[in-house]
Parts: sequence; C-alpha cells; structure tokens
Amino acid sequence: MALTSGFWLDKSLEEMNREEWEALCDGCGLCCLHKLEDIDTGELVYTGIVCRHYDQTNARCTCYDTRHEKVPDCLVLTPELVATLDWLPETCAYRLLHEGRPLPSWHPLRSGRRESVAEAGVAIAGRVVNEDDVHPHDWAQAWLEAREAAEEE
Ligand code: SF4
Ligand code: SF4
Repeated sequence: MALTSGFWLDKSLEEMNREEWEALCDGCGLCCLHKLEDIDTGELVYTGIVCRHYDQTNARCTCYDTRHEKVPDCLVLTPELVATLDWLPETCAYRLLHEGRPLPSWHPLRSGRRESVAEAGVAIAGRVVNEDDVHPHDWAQAWLEAREAAEEE
C-alpha cells in the first residue's frame, strides 16, 4: 500500500501503521554504532564502530527481521520505547516526532531520495569501522582514527 503524503504530520507515532513506522527510519545507521558509557557520569558517547550486521554499501541492516535474535541488545523501537530513550540521535525521525519537531528537509520522506541522508552528512556509511575489523580493546583508538580520517576528507 502506498504511503499517504505527509502522514507523519497528521498521525502520532502511536497511530502509525507498520509501513508508516518503518518509513520513518532514514537508514542513517547512527543507532547501530556502539556506544561507550562514562561510568562516573553515565554519559553515552557514540563510537565510530558499527554493528557487524550493518551493510555500509547499502546503508541497511542485513538481518532486520531477526535483529533482536542476532543482537540481543539491538532494540526494536516502539512508540513507548522511543519515549524512554534519551540516547537516540538528535536527527532520528522517531526522536524528532516524539519531541514534536519536524522532519528535516533531507529526510527521504521529504526529499524523495535515500541519498539525501548521506548528502546531508548524517549517514554513517563509509565513515565508520565494522566491529569485526577491530578488537574491543582498540575501539577508542579506531574511533579516533576514523574521526580524523573523516575530518580530512
Ligand atoms: S537513528 Fe533512527 S533514523 Fe537512524 S537508523 Fe536508527 S532508527 Fe533509523
Ligand atoms: S542488528 Fe541491525 S539494526 Fe541492530 S544494531 Fe546491528 S545493524 Fe543495527
């Protein structure tokens, strides 16, 4: 079934059907990055290390339907969960709509193109390291190197 134009303007997250809900995800991949937590402050920092199931070529999860079985701490977002997660990226459509903010112009639902996410500099594809390619002990170093490389581009 085709999506109704501007459905996110008229419906709350709770009112959306499955297709509408899934269309909100822009595929940026930010939520698939591993995070480090400061044990003193609880602050979460995104690393440049991405889940092994994230396909950077196509900017997609390769096991979306079974992701929770393959990666137990990979969350299946729901409207209720979105309301409790303070670490969702600022640009994440679920967070934006939950907070009553508009979708940015680069969001595929507005631009009509998935490429606009990368063009806006939001997508992680091509800028991060797969977790299989780096030992957890070296995450911090790999993260710094990935950041420096991205800044030099
Ligand atoms: S951060 Fe939000 S928009 Fe980006 S991939 Fe995750 S769920 Fe989708
Ligand atoms: S399993 Fe898929 S959705 Fe979950 S973190 Fe990994 S790549 Fe992202």
